[in-house]
Amino acid sequence: MTLMTSWVESSNNAETPFPLNNLPYGVFSTNALEPRCGVAIGDMILDLAALEETGVLELNEEPVFDVPYWNDLMDLGPEAWDTLRARLTELLKTDSPEQAAVAPHLIPMAEARMEMPIVVSEYTDFYAGKHHAMNVGTMFRGPENALPPNWLHIPIGYNGRASSVVVSGTDIIRPNGQTKAPDADMPSFGPCKRLDIELEMGAIVGTSSTLGQPITVAEADAMIFGYVLLNDWSARDIQAWEYQPLGPFQAKAFATSISPWIVTRAALEPFRTSTPELEKDLLPYLREPGPMLYDIDLTISIEPEGGSEEVLARTNYNQMYYSAAQQLAHHASSGCAMTTGDLLGSGTISGPKKDERGSLLELSWGGKEPITLQDGSTRSFLNDGDTMHLTGQAQGDGYRIGFGACSGKILPAVKYP
Ligand code: MN
Repeated sequence: MTLMTSWVESSNNAETPFPLNNLPYGVFSTNALEPRCGVAIGDMILDLAALEETGVLELNEEPVFDVPYWNDLMDLGPEAWDTLRARLTELLKTDSPEQAAVAPHLIPMAEARMEMPIVVSEYTDFYAGKHHAMNVGTMFRGPENALPPNWLHIPIGYNGRASSVVVSGTDIIRPNGQTKAPDADMPSFGPCKRLDIELEMGAIVGTSSTLGQPITVAEADAMIFGYVLLNDWSARDIQAWEYQPLGPFQAKAFATSISPWIVTRAALEPFRTSTPELEKDLLPYLREPGPMLYDIDLTISIEPEGGSEEVLARTNYNQMYYSAAQQLAHHASSGCAMTTGDLLGSGTISGPKKDERGSLLELSWGGKEPITLQDGSTRSFLNDGDTMHLTGQAQGDGYRIGFGACSGKILPAVKYP
């Protein structure tokens, strides 16, 4: 696969995150337009609601793009997803005979605001990065007991909150919560002191499964509509006090950010790769029938208030021990029904090296090794005013598949009680 060219000139270069090969889906609004579905091409957004209204794009009898979410399109199923991608490619490719009908509906990205791309029906977060689990486990339990006994057999997860999933650019209010210092008699309540990020990928489930009926890993893979970058903001001090025995609760419930563009499974096909070598055989229901991870370069950067952005870590999605398809199959293995709009967080993606760690908890080794920034200040965890950016891209031959940034700025905690 090489760069596919379009009559939208800004999409025809090796650097753009949004060439014709990508065609990621988002929801946007402008001063003149209500939130609606669009597709990114170069530095423009194609207004799909307008194309549908003028009859250039006919996918369904009832309109599906004049709404502020992609759930209606996802509900039409994988055949419709393929039809849409093929039709958009045809409309946007170089020398398309329909250029004149399409061109009036291109909006400069600079004039658009990005909105949440889907209605998140439910959100589940996993713990499926082995380097991350080893690092965190080593910090809390020592290297011998770092991995819990179930870790190599089950993609561990917890049910998170859909209500606090927000789109990139949304400010993050520092949570209040209950904590207890190891030597204190009583817990106390107040602003989180160890506010952190988790660099993750989010898989968006595009079709539903039936209550009571498990699915195979191959079926699970076919149910995934696309992927976004995901920041699973974490209150480490609150988590440390509350998490036993049922897992994280308020420490993860206050916010999860996602990037605004859904990069489809179809766009990522050339970048498929296998999960790393298994340490122990998986039970048959979790075995992968083929490569189901993707080679996606990821970065974390920090932008202090009034300062400039600097990279803290670089890693790759190919470091995960379990793929999203395995996580989805495991999720449905009990008979749990999965639904259109389900969001699965991969778990923190850390690589084996120190500068490949996907959270501040790991980068500062629990606060023991604070990070020094270019302005001379140090961070173990986040300060108010810090903006965190995640980026992701798959590098092809002369083109790249970008995700757009996943960013959020920390605001001070509210006064409570
Ligand atoms: Mn997480």
